[in-house]
Amino acid sequence: MTLIREIERPFIIAGPCSAETEEQVFKTARLLKETGKVHMLRAGIWKPRTRPNSFEGIGEPGLAWLIEAGKETGLPVITEVANAHHVQLALKAGFKKLWIGARTTVNPFTVQEIAESLHGVKDLEILVKNPVNPDVNLWIGAIERFMQAGIAEVHAIHRGFSSFKSKRYRNEPMWEIPIALKGEFPKIKLLCDPSHICGRRDLLAEVSQKAIDLIYDGLMIESHITPDEAWSDAQQQITPDQLNTLLENLVIRTEYSADDTFKKNLEALRCEINAIDQELLNLLIKRMQVVQQIGQYKGKNQITILQPNRWEDIKATHLALAREYGLSDAFIEKYLEAIHLESIRLQTKVMNE
Ligand code: PEP
Ligand code: MN
Repeated sequence: MTLIREIERPFIIAGPCSAETEEQVFKTARLLKETGKVHMLRAGIWKPRTRPNSFEGIGEPGLAWLIEAGKETGLPVITEVANAHHVQLALKAGFKKLWIGARTTVNPFTVQEIAESLHGVKDLEILVKNPVNPDVNLWIGAIERFMQAGIAEVHAIHRGFSSFKSKRYRNEPMWEIPIALKGEFPKIKLLCDPSHICGRRDLLAEVSQKAIDLIYDGLMIESHITPDEAWSDAQQQITPDQLNTLLENLVIRTEYSADDTFKKNLEALRCEINAIDQELLNLLIKRMQVVQQIGQYKGKNQITILQPNRWEDIKATHLALAREYGLSDAFIEKYLEAIHLESIRLQTKVMNE
C-alpha cells in the first residue's frame, strides 16, 4: 500500500477535478503515470457545486472507472466523500483513500457521520481539506473526529479559504492557518492543493513552490486531458504534460543542507534572530508598563483613553522610517494597530480598577 508518509516529499496526487467519461479517466491516468512523478490518482465523483444546474458529478459509475484506472496504472486512487452514503459506495467499489472536501469539513455533524461510517474499516487513509472559512479549530476538530474513529492515517490538505475580497486567488491561501495546524499536529502530513487556491493556471507554479518552501509534504493538483473542455473547474486544470513541466521546475529545498558551513552560518543568524525577538518582547513589556502608568494618570485626571491626533502622528513617523528600510506599509500598520489595541485594552483595565 502506498502511504503518503512512506514517499519522499513531495508526494503528488493528480487527476481531473471530476471523472467525466470512462475514456477521459483512463487517458488522464495513463498520461499521468507516464510522467513518472505522480504517486496517486484523484477524481471527484460527487461534486459539491456552489450554484445549482452545474455538473454535479458522474456519480456511482465513475467509481469503477477510477478503480480500474488505478489497477491498470498501478497507482492508488482517491476520491471525495461528502456523506455516509458516499462512503458506503466508495468502500464497496474498493477505495482505501478518501478525501473530505472543504464544504464538508465546515460541518461537524457531517464529519461525525462520515467518521462513524468508517469505524472499524482497516487500512484507510483519510485526507481532510481545510474548511472554506478560515477557522483552524474546525479543521483540527474534523481531523480529531477521524482520529477518534480509529483511523491511523489522517492527513491534511490546504486548499485556501473563501474570501469576498480576494482578487488574485480563488481561495485566499492564508498560510498562517496551515502552519498553525502543523503546530497542533506536528506529525500530520500536510499537502497543498494549489488548484483550488489559485482558480487559474498561471499561478499554480508559484503557489506550489511556496508550499514546497514551507516544507509541505506534497501537492494535489487537478489535471485533465483537455482542460478547456473540462465539465468543472476548467480554468484551473492543466494537462498531464503541463503538470510534468511544473513538477520538473519545482526546486525542492530541504530543511537542512548537508553543508556544514551553511548550517553554522544559519545557526548563527538564527541565534541573532532569537536574541532580537527576546529584546522585542522585553521592550513591548516595558512599553505596556508605561501605558498602564499613563492609564492611571489619565483615570485620575478624567482624560479619554483614545487620543486620535497623537496616534496619527506616531503612525506617520513610523511609516516614513520603515518605508526607507523597505518595510511595507501594510506590515507597519498591522503592527502598530496590534500595539495600539493592546495599549487601549490595558489602559481601560487600569482605569476601571
Ligand atoms: C475538489 O478537490 O475537486 C474540490 C471540490 O475541492 P474543495 O473541497 O477544496 O473545493
Ligand atoms: Mn475542482
